[in-house]
Amino acid sequence: MPNIFNLGGEGKNAAFKKDIIKYFVANGNSTIQELAKDTLLSVPTVTKAVTELIELGYIVEYGKQETSEGRRPILYGLNPESGFFVGVEIKVDFINLGLMNFRGDMVELDDNVPCRVDNTMESVEELCRLVKQFIDKSEVDKSRIQNIMFCISGRVNSATGYSHTLYNFSEQPLTRLLSDILGYRVDIENDTRAFAYGEYTKGVVRGERDVLFINASWGLGLGIIVDGELYRGKSGFAGEFGHTHMFDNDILCHCGKKGCLETEASGSAMQRIVRRRIEEGETSFLTSHTGDIYSLESIIEAINDEDPLCIDVVEHIGQRLGESVANLINLFNPELVVIGGVLSRAGDFLLQAVGASVRKYSLSIVNRDTRLCLSKLNERGGIIGTCMLARKSILD
Ligand SMILES: [Zn+2]
Repeated sequence: MPNIFNLGGEGKNAAFKKDIIKYFVANGNSTIQELAKDTLLSVPTVTKAVTELIELGYIVEYGKQETSEGRRPILYGLNPESGFFVGVEIKVDFINLGLMNFRGDMVELDDNVPCRVDNTMESVEELCRLVKQFIDKSEVDKSRIQNIMFCISGRVNSATGYSHTLYNFSEQPLTRLLSDILGYRVDIENDTRAFAYGEYTKGVVRGERDVLFINASWGLGLGIIVDGELYRGKSGFAGEFGHTHMFDNDILCHCGKKGCLETEASGSAMQRIVRRRIEEGETSFLTSHTGDIYSLESIIEAINDEDPLCIDVVEHIGQRLGESVANLINLFNPELVVIGGVLSRAGDFLLQAVGASVRKYSLSIVNRDTRLCLSKLNERGGIIGTCMLARKSILD
């Protein structure tokens, strides 16, 4: 298994060099003086470590800092070619694959690759074949690929390497099973947390440290970032927002319970309500369309074409969602709440409805601190977050 993340030296020295790399990950290109100031270390100590990291190939010079007067110090930053990370986002019947360099730039991306996704070894083998194909055709130095991160829906324990919802058929951890087949270190994470981390690092977040991410797609997930770190809970199952009991509606949720929030505030709920209202005789642009008129894609398109029925339904869904987001705001007092997932493509129709319920049902002294916005990365957030988490898991 290739492992080039050998920083030289042992114990304190290696840990210190890792901290310097993490500094560049968090702050971008910096001077020795900035590094010394922020790490509270002497300039000679920092200079020595940076020189060693340059020799190892992780750090390179990026010219001189622009200053108005006097000596212009040299800027240092991560060498993009010194390491690569693969991300694999598992969707319902396809996967997205990404390859990111050490600086965090996406180098290669394969979208919507058809793949059988179910709870069988055959499905895992097909998945691994597609991942191998993706790595083989990439032009990067394969020995510099550090790890592969898979993001999977449902209950995922990234610490033990077990996925409890999908690919849950083997005694051994899924990470070991995948790693044995692929020959690389493998990590796993829940899909909503990966999306949250994507938005946090490369999306709409601008310095906020306490952020909630609502993943409103077919189901309803929640990514929680507390003081800049992903919150996973004891076993990695935190954020089961969609399965909080909210309604006495007698609608069976796919989790096996009744009355979950997801049964009234999600893409599947939107589809069910639109279908029922059209079958009861209400008019909609959708009935003149061909193909699967009740697919989420078709309904979102109809909303953006200003179909009155579909707008009415998404506003209803938004109100329901907003009532529960109001509860989250009371509980977490977040600085920012990001609405993402497929439903966020309904834009202001959804956001306004969520916002109205938030104002109505959360404590005004609490919600005063909270900004509500739509995801910036949309469907790209998942794969970007997966690749960024691959790098983070190596550095942690
Ligand atoms: Zn449920």
